[in-house]
Amino acid sequence: MKALDELTFDNRFARLGDAFSTHVLPEPLDEPRLVVASNAAMALLDLDPAVAETPVFAELFSGHKLWAEAEPRAMVYSGHQFGGYTPQLGDGRGLLLGEVYNEAGEHWDLHLKGAGMTPYSRMGDGRAVLRSSIREFLASEALHALGIPSSRALCVIGSSTPVWREKQERGAMVLRLAHSHIRFGHFEYFYYTKKPEQQAELAEHVLNLHYPECREQPEPYLAMFREIVERNAEMIAKWQAYGFCHGVMNTDNMSILGITFDFGPFAFLDDFDAHFICNHSDHEGRYSFINQVPIGQWNLSALAQALTPFISVDALKEALGLYLPLYQAHYLDLMRRRLGLSTAEDDDQKLVEQLLKLMQNSGVDYTLFFRRLGDEPAAQAVARLRDDFVDLAGLDAWAERYKARVARDGDYSEVQRRERMHAVNPLYILRNYLAQNAIAAAESGDYSEVRRLHEVLSKPFEEQAGMEQYAQRPPDWGKHLEISCSS
Ligand code: AMP
Ligand code: MG
Repeated sequence: MKALDELTFDNRFARLGDAFSTHVLPEPLDEPRLVVASNAAMALLDLDPAVAETPVFAELFSGHKLWAEAEPRAMVYSGHQFGGYTPQLGDGRGLLLGEVYNEAGEHWDLHLKGAGMTPYSRMGDGRAVLRSSIREFLASEALHALGIPSSRALCVIGSSTPVWREKQERGAMVLRLAHSHIRFGHFEYFYYTKKPEQQAELAEHVLNLHYPECREQPEPYLAMFREIVERNAEMIAKWQAYGFCHGVMNTDNMSILGITFDFGPFAFLDDFDAHFICNHSDHEGRYSFINQVPIGQWNLSALAQALTPFISVDALKEALGLYLPLYQAHYLDLMRRRLGLSTAEDDDQKLVEQLLKLMQNSGVDYTLFFRRLGDEPAAQAVARLRDDFVDLAGLDAWAERYKARVARDGDYSEVQRRERMHAVNPLYILRNYLAQNAIAAAESGDYSEVRRLHEVLSKPFEEQAGMEQYAQRPPDWGKHLEISCSS
């Protein structure tokens, strides 16, 4: 276990120089205080969880103090936002404080969001408010606990600094961790500004540090792109299987590591709704739940365009062609497991589609349905869940098919079935209304609910005593919350 001043820095991105990022010092928040910290994320840095409660911790992650070895930098990038190209974006309110090695030899970026203005702030104030910082913290840690690749979050620090959004709020900072904060938009920036040397430097950097195994391949850059395609296909399959809606899949929010990144007005589905739009400024539903699948490919094509100086168009096209089949395979594999199936049959895709259609028509809770399906043997479970459906004839027909399919799958004891299904079907997810309750308490100075919710979500598959209230469908007020896009 390390103390805070024992972190080992190695600032590889900063060393790329001023063409890639700008030195900026964080602008401190007033009266910093710890809102919540993640012990699991602390462990990634070998930090003793007790240090989160010390005053210096809040000072470090609110811009008051800095390690001597840190080199805070705002990164430049660009990206396609809602389909249109924005030539220059960048860390407008976040800073890469530095990169740290842990004892296992893993490298973690420390990225502080809400740290004040940078040359890339455009019209913004460089700040993040408490509510959005809490949402990012909870989402990153909850996704990770579900087995969905994501950036991580070390802590949220609150403050008394006023920040103006639709109304006056309080500034906060969230410390984000990832092996890299490089986005698709980084490559797009150097491609569209016609800076081939820097673009090559960036590509070498990513290849050497994040895809070293691709060096062994005859065409290392192509191998790297293929790997990025594969990782994105897998990540988005997991989003779809677990009902996660990102909300702002702009290419500047897509990580070159294939991790969920840059959380805005995201949501987990309550009732299953394929066309759900969690971002209220997304009027056309470009980033609706179901559209995340083709948008994943669209974003990869935008990255492919930026890689044309290194890879032939034919090879890029071929690699892009891997996306959909890989997505389908991962998705179907996960959905089979969610249904308690361990073998594969040709008609499984149809079985899943029919179920989702029934759930859509009846507004069935996506998470609880699968959890309850694993509580009992198939016949009893579907009989009990029948009441949640409107189209009873449809459900009955599906149930017959499902029971026959389960019978063909193998002979499992009730306990085996439950254990296997509960291991992939969470009981607790980050429902918007749960986040909202925790935020309301935190805004009035009580952080206990954020901390409790974080705890519950860190073990989503494990039934936890006394936590029944976190495993319920939302109350009416919590069903259609408009989550502000301002953050
Ligand atoms: P986002 O939609 O959060 O991914 O942000 C898009 C771009 O706007 C990024 O370059 C952000 O750094 C920048 N940005 C968002 N909010 C602010 C803010 N309050 N101040 C400065 N820049 C911001
Ligand atoms: Mg962003």
